[in-house]
Formats: sequence, structure tokens, C-alpha cells
Amino acid sequence: MQYRRCGNSGLLLPLVSLGLWQNFGGIDDHENARKMIFRAFDLGITQFDLANNYGPPFGSAEETFGKILKDDLAGYRDELIITSKAGYDMWPGPYGEWGSRKYMIASCDQSLKRLGVEYVDIFYSHRPDPNTPLEETMMALDQIVRSGKALYAGISSYSPDQSQKAIDILTSLGTPCLVHQPSYSMFNRWIEDGLLDVLEKNSVGCAVFSPLFQGLLTDKYLNGIPPGSRASKSDSSLPSSVITSDKLSKVDQLNEIAAARGQKLSQLALAWVLKDPRITSVIIGASKVAHIEEAVAIQSNLSFAPEELNAIEEILVG
Ligand code: NDP
Repeated sequence: MQYRRCGNSGLLLPLVSLGLWQNFGGIDDHENARKMIFRAFDLGITQFDLANNYGPPFGSAEETFGKILKDDLAGYRDELIITSKAGYDMWPGPYGEWGSRKYMIASCDQSLKRLGVEYVDIFYSHRPDPNTPLEETMMALDQIVRSGKALYAGISSYSPDQSQKAIDILTSLGTPCLVHQPSYSMFNRWIEDGLLDVLEKNSVGCAVFSPLFQGLLTDKYLNGIPPGSRASKSDSSLPSSVITSDKLSKVDQLNEIAAARGQKLSQLALAWVLKDPRITSVIIGASKVAHIEEAVAIQSNLSFAPEELNAIEEILVG
């Protein structure tokens, strides 16, 4: 596994990280989750990305990871980067979401219990809160780090402006912002419009989520929506309405470019994200071990000829 430095920090993150948003909850097959985590770690994936509400039910992905850590990986704690977040809906009442100090610190304490660890490596504000002063949310992150409950602080899905303000506040508090976690893929390029520049200017790392656009940037949907896939599920985070004929036509064309490079489409999609050195890591999701193996295998083919990049750009821009 290759590792990239996260901003100008001392921390190296793997090119490929594994996220536990889906397929690691209480409703999922525990043995499959265990196999995926083992295979990932054996392949050098040291970063496992969690949040308070990953499941379902909420909290259960942290419990799954906590159980595997306790049963099998306890001796490897110092080789693991375990991350968690608070920001989205987690428990009922006025203190169970967004960015108040009350919620952030209580949620972090709950995550530590579910994970069975004394600290997480990175704790994130999962989303900006329009109704809480940014200072309050950042002071909560600072407090979480100072009290030893997390080693580093991060932010997720903050706009370029919000990110600059958050970075400035954290710097003034003495707890630098280690990393931003935005969405980014060939089908979702909002971070090219200012955010990456802010992160570069401030030497903050960038670990991107949904680099495969939740599976659409693979060969999975080339012939329709297969049973058991994310898009096939009820209340899916990838509703079939998102899988438009325009996107499918692009997927088809990108698949040809991938084949010409001797790659799978998923590998082309991940390598394309990682071509920008400002991207520290791609946080992939997986429902089977083979997905993780396919992602890690990108390392033998990460570079692009200018003609390939031009051809991809033409397809994406349409
Ligand atoms: P991806 O874009 O990598 O999508 C993952 C899904 O794509 C898998 O579950 C699988 O779907 C499919 N897939 C993966 N590899 C392959 C392959 N080789 N061939 C075919 N299908 C494949 O990422 P996610 O959307 O899952 O997000 C990744 C992580 O990012 C999350 O687990 C979480 O940690 C983080 N995240 C953070 C957010 C935030 O707000 N900060 C928001 C969302 C995610 P299937 O189940 O259909 O097999």
C-alpha cells in the first residue's frame, strides 16, 4: 500500500481507505463484515472511516467494528486509523444532531463506548451547522482532541468559505484542522471549484468519500440494476432516479477507456480521483472482499496519458 501525507501533518494515510457507512450495520452479515475488514487491513488499508449513525440501526457499524477490534485486532490498535463523526441525526430530542458543543462531545463519548476504544484517531464535524456559531463547533473539536478522545480534528462537507473559517478558528485554538472529507468523483466535481485550493493553501489533507459515486462508476449498472445492489434497495441512498440514461451512456464510454488501459471501470474512477496530489485518500465502500481487492490493485496503474485525460474530460463534460 502506498501512503500519502495528510496535508503538512505527521500522519500518513493509505491511498485507499475503507468506509463502513453501509454493509457493516446490525442488519448486515457480520462474517462478511469481518472478512472485508481483515482483507482490507492485510492489504495495507489502515484507515477505517465511521460515524455515529452508520448502520442501520444507528451506531451499529461502530459496534461491528468495535467487536472485530476486540475479538481479533486488539493487538493492532497502533497500526489503525479509526475515524468517527458527529453532525447528522443520531438520537431524538434537541441534542442529537448538528454542531452544538453538547451534541459533539456527548456523541464522541458514545462512539468511544461503541467502538470500545479510549480514543479515535480523527474526529470530524460531519456537516456545518447553520444555527450554531462555528466557534462553538470548533471549540468542541478542540476540546475533544485536548481531552485525548481524538488525536486529530477534521471537517466534512464544509464549503470553501466555511472551511477557511473553520481552519482559522482551529488554528487559533492550537488544534490544526488535519483533514477535510468531501464527496468527490468523476460525476461529482464540486471540490474543484475552490475547496481544493483552500485545502492546499492551508496544507490540510483531503480524504474523499463516494469516489465511485456509490457504485455507479463501476461495471455494476451497465446492464440494469442488479438485485442486492445499493440502488436496488428500498430507501436507497442511490435512488434509481439518479441513474439517468445520460450517466449510463458516460459509464459505457468510460468503461471502454478503462478496458483500453487494462483496468476495470472502478479502478479508472479511483485512479482519476487520485491523480490530484492534493487528494490524500479515497474512502471506498464495499459489499464484498473482491471490491476491496479491486480497489487496492489500482496502485499498479495510477498515471494517465494527456490523451486519456482529454478523452475522459470530453465524456464527462458531454
Ligand atoms: P463508493 O462510491 O466507493 O461506493 C461503494 C459501493 O460501490 C459499494 O458499497 C458497492 O455497492 C459498490 N462497489 C464498490 N466497489 C465495487 C466494484 N469493484 N464493483 C462493483 N461495485 C462496487 O463509496 P460510498 O458511497 O460507500 O462511501 C464510502 C465511504 O465514505 C462511506 O462508507 C463513509 O465512510 C464515507 N462517507 C462519508 C460521508 C460524509 O458525509 N462524510 C457521506 C457518505 C459516505 P453495492 O453495495 O451495490 O455492492
